[in-house]
Amino acid sequence: MSGESPSEKSQTAPETDRGSVPDDPIVGIDLGTTNSLVAFADAAGPRILDLDRGADEGVPSSETGLVPSVVRYRGDAVEAVGRRAAAGLEEHATRTVFSVKRYMGRRFDDRRDDAEASPYQVVSGARGLAGVEIDGRVRSPEEISADLLAHLRDRASEALGVPVRRAVVTVPAYFDDAQRQATRDAGRIAGIDVVRILNEPTAAALAYGIGGRGDAETIVVYDLGGGTFDVTVLEVMPADPSSPDGEAIFRVLATAGDTHLGGDDFDRVLVGNLHEAAMGEPDPERRARRLAVLRAVGARAKVALSDAAATRIRLDGRGLVPDLDRTLDRSDFETAARPLVDRTLDACARALKDAGLERASIDRVVLVGGSTRMPMIRKAVESWFDRPAYVALDPDRVIALGAAVQGSILAGTRRDALLLDVIPLSLGLETAGGAVAKLVVRNTMVPTRSVEMFSTSVDGQLNVGLHVVQGEREMVADCRSLARFELRGLPPMPAGIPQIEVVFNVDANGVLGVDAVERRSGRRARVQVVPSNGLTREEVDRIEADSVTHARDDMMVHRVVDLAVNAALDVKWITEALDRVRGDVDPEVVASVESGLVALRSLITRAREDPRSVDPDAFHAAKDHLDRASMPVHEASIARSLRNDESTDA
Ligand code: ADP
Ligand code: MG
Repeated sequence: MSGESPSEKSQTAPETDRGSVPDDPIVGIDLGTTNSLVAFADAAGPRILDLDRGADEGVPSSETGLVPSVVRYRGDAVEAVGRRAAAGLEEHATRTVFSVKRYMGRRFDDRRDDAEASPYQVVSGARGLAGVEIDGRVRSPEEISADLLAHLRDRASEALGVPVRRAVVTVPAYFDDAQRQATRDAGRIAGIDVVRILNEPTAAALAYGIGGRGDAETIVVYDLGGGTFDVTVLEVMPADPSSPDGEAIFRVLATAGDTHLGGDDFDRVLVGNLHEAAMGEPDPERRARRLAVLRAVGARAKVALSDAAATRIRLDGRGLVPDLDRTLDRSDFETAARPLVDRTLDACARALKDAGLERASIDRVVLVGGSTRMPMIRKAVESWFDRPAYVALDPDRVIALGAAVQGSILAGTRRDALLLDVIPLSLGLETAGGAVAKLVVRNTMVPTRSVEMFSTSVDGQLNVGLHVVQGEREMVADCRSLARFELRGLPPMPAGIPQIEVVFNVDANGVLGVDAVERRSGRRARVQVVPSNGLTREEVDRIEADSVTHARDDMMVHRVVDLAVNAALDVKWITEALDRVRGDVDPEVVASVESGLVALRSLITRAREDPRSVDPDAFHAAKDHLDRASMPVHEASIARSLRNDESTDA
């Protein structure tokens, strides 16, 4: 076998086309009630644009690309949009407009309750439609949305380096004609050609590649955002490959939900009765500020509790609200918020009933909306539908990603690379020493499933880190990292004893689910990813060529790394046994075992520092030699434990 010849090809392989943006791109815009995002898709698939340059400004990665749907006005001018406007909510409560989506295309009379609870002034404007009055000027929800869209368009143009004029904009599936028209008008006012109004649940399906191929499916999209909850039952008829436009058909079978149930309500649960007290504040300006402070505190605690089991709230109330210093447990929060979760499940039941379907006839459940990051939501939905949900993509980015996919389909640049029937690159798990165990090899047809057993390499390990990688090389350092997760809370056991079963499951859409369970304790953990995300055809080709180039070298390194792991276990067992029975064996055997231990220890050290410097055959021989030399030690050790057993029996 010759691993050397094809190396030229990989060195001259073209760069990815990640940077190539057409002159007149079609972007996808998720114009959300709470947050808005812009995404763009090319042959590499969809990606979120980092509009506020959040990455440079230390914004946590979980928030990059998210632009709060907030606009602040002063007189005739827009004073701030997005993150800056949201930061000033408390200070400029009556001049800062948020959640304007609630009023799009709606009559004031239909939104009177919202209007009364709003810190900014909602009035009855032209033709009885809702409007917002600030500094004596009334603006329509379309105009306010247009100010938001113009901001998104300008930032997106900067991010892409070309002027953005065309967009796919998403709306909830239940939006009626007036609300859809208002959304189009907002685009027009902002100077954007809205090439399509797309239903949000359809966008979520597109982001996951649903409808790209295969059979017709019925899916449920569960979307819990900041202030609204929507559940949609969607029927998907995949694209007919022979049809000229190649678009799948998405039909809404039923929608249900609650326009006043979302993340905000969970925030309120955390600040409890303080919220009610603030609502009773007679002075509107002061009331708005009190509510804004509490809202921020509740939201921060809630987000913290999605990752931690407890969080501490400390607040200087500045005379507006009482000072706070308390610790909150996730389990208490979950108990208090249970009625909210149940309301979403009731809506799911209504939607299924309206669609005339049973839970069992749903093929997939997709989670959307920032609030589905709360573990209690995921657990409740998965147990209600009795199946794992689609969670591989960030729930607050799914809609924009799907809108961008629709944009690329309309622009004629279909991302065919992502709709493969086979797994383009092998999928595996990192093992001790940085080697890769491949569970699914490249070119396997989807769907596919693979199971392998693993164990620990350290005594008493309580948590095991699992690292899912993609690629053809033998070492993790040469592969693409897909996801990391942890199997926690194992009972302490000696190295090599835990039995960790890992299952890789790739479904028909190419979504990979990885399940790990420790058999003795029953502890489990799970992660989900879309391995093809952000991969281009060229990258796949280059990775494959690289693996051929390095095949021989990689195999040797892999062997050395595995030997180091096994030899370390040998050294440990033999050292322990020798300590117990040193007096029972021939001094010559002791000397030979000790010198074998020294030799193997130094090989292990070298293998860990630089595996390429160790000859695997010599390493194997040294390990073998020690194993043989230590036979008398093992025998003596067994004999001794038998004697001990006898004496305890007596
Ligand atoms: P919308 O569709 O209404 O624009 P999003 O989908 O962006 O809203 O969701 C916003 C909501 O998600 C907010 O209530 C926010 O607090 C919540 N959220 C975001 N991240 C987390 C998290 N890690 N844990 C809990 N809630 C979160
Ligand atoms: Mg949303």
